[in-house]
Amino acid sequence: MVRIGIPQALMFYRYSPLWHAIFRHADLEVVLSQRPEKGFIMEGDLPGPPEICLPVKLFLAHVNQLATRCDQIFIPRLISIERDTYNCPHFLGIPDVARAQCRSTIPVLDPIWNAKIQPDPLKAFVQQIYNHCGVPHSLSRKAIAQFKEIQDQAMVRFPARMVPRLFDQVDISQARFIIGIVGRPYILYEPELAGRIFSFFKKERCFLITPEMISQKLKLTSLQHLERPIFWYNCRENAGAAFSMFSNKRLNGLVQIVTFGCGPDSLIKELIDLHSSEQRGLPYLSLVIDQQSGLEAIQTRLEAFMDMVKRAFRRRLTN
Ligand code: SF4
Repeated sequence: MVRIGIPQALMFYRYSPLWHAIFRHADLEVVLSQRPEKGFIMEGDLPGPPEICLPVKLFLAHVNQLATRCDQIFIPRLISIERDTYNCPHFLGIPDVARAQCRSTIPVLDPIWNAKIQPDPLKAFVQQIYNHCGVPHSLSRKAIAQFKEIQDQAMVRFPARMVPRLFDQVDISQARFIIGIVGRPYILYEPELAGRIFSFFKKERCFLITPEMISQKLKLTSLQHLERPIFWYNCRENAGAAFSMFSNKRLNGLVQIVTFGCGPDSLIKELIDLHSSEQRGLPYLSLVIDQQSGLEAIQTRLEAFMDMVKRAFRRRLTN
């Protein structure tokens, strides 16, 4: 049986249910990459040129980890997920970057998803995978409908069961505060990046709302006042989530997390920062993390943010 290696990084955090379903349907075995106990960042084992962003370096480290464990490495070329948006250029070139930068000589399986030119991108994506793996598989309408349903769930509203297990939520009935947290899925749920801070909020008994927990419709409606549409896919997700959270009266604070050196986020971060300054009384924290951001440095800022949240909460009670 062909073993397909999947790096647990980048859009794995959004589409892993769909990818698993596609491979399972054709009886292909999936092998997931494993991070070292201390993490790739702590081990100092990050490949890639220095100018490339941290999430891509982590992705390449996961590809290296799969180097001897599978027959093909799955690195999709996700150009345009929806017809009116594009992904960051790194997503367009990542299979080539992996071929050039990684130790692995295993063939790369790099199906294209480009809603700008493919009439049915999901069907085209699956067909490329099955053709590449030599799977004599007729794609029934039923199978495509099933994949579509899984994809819609991942796109529209991330079901709780799909949220990575590291996202260990407090029960909302036990929560003291409700905190919005926006960022790309591969930053928020990545244990080596923002994933580390979930335990901090859990200790503070905060219930977290992430972009995946907000409906697509609400995110898009919240952006209608902008003069120009946002055409970067994840940026639109984050800005839509942040703006919808600004009007959520139950929210006690909002945190935005981006990684240093991200081109698209450097613009959208400013947009969200700017709007946050117009929200009277809502504590807001904007974190830019990089390879050197130790938990201690983040912890100090998180503690200061929680002080603001508690003060604002007391003020609300006395007014
Ligand atoms: S959007 Fe930003 S973080 Fe994501 S791959 Fe592109 S540069 Fe890196």
